[in-house]
Amino acid sequence: MTFGEKSTKTRYVLCGVKLPIHLREQEGLKDLSTVYFSLFNKFRQGYIETFSYLDKWGYQNKAVSPISLKEDLRGLARKSGVGERGLNRSILHDKYGGNLLFSAFYTSAPIKAFTGHSPDNCIKCGKCADICPGKAINLKGVMVYRCAPFSLRACQKCLDVCPVGEMNYKSVYMRGE
Ligand code: SF4
Ligand code: SF4
Repeated sequence: MTFGEKSTKTRYVLCGVKLPIHLREQEGLKDLSTVYFSLFNKFRQGYIETFSYLDKWGYQNKAVSPISLKEDLRGLARKSGVGERGLNRSILHDKYGGNLLFSAFYTSAPIKAFTGHSPDNCIKCGKCADICPGKAINLKGVMVYRCAPFSLRACQKCLDVCPVGEMNYKSVYMRGE
């Protein structure tokens, strides 16, 4: 969880949950939606508890859905120090790589906002571009029209192959801890 400033009066709290590694290769699409539903529920439960606490102090809060099309959650993640975008366009966190699902809530509570810089963890190894079945990744970013036919069938090869966070997180996950 990290904090940022939307304007002088509105702050946001950014929350991330870990996505299981190789989730989509292991699970069918139906199971995938079940996994995502349980992750959304995690956010919901956390917000219910946090909002009930902040409400008591008279602060106003509004949740942003992890699948919001209006809010650029990755942009908020960059601003709040989680990490810069990698070549695969995902936010690359030191420990979890690109395997974080974000949500956020806005609050009028006077929390202290993060003011530093996000780490640029992409090592430009090109593995994400090499493995991409749609040849969608180049130095300018991800070409959506090339990615979409595969991502709609639950492709996430560019995330799974990325070595950022691998030593700290992927190996731990593989041991099932
Ligand atoms: S696979 Fe390599 S080039 Fe692609 S985002 Fe990860 S670190 Fe960057
Ligand atoms: S999701 Fe799949 S098709 Fe889309 S950029 Fe990543 S590897 Fe390529």
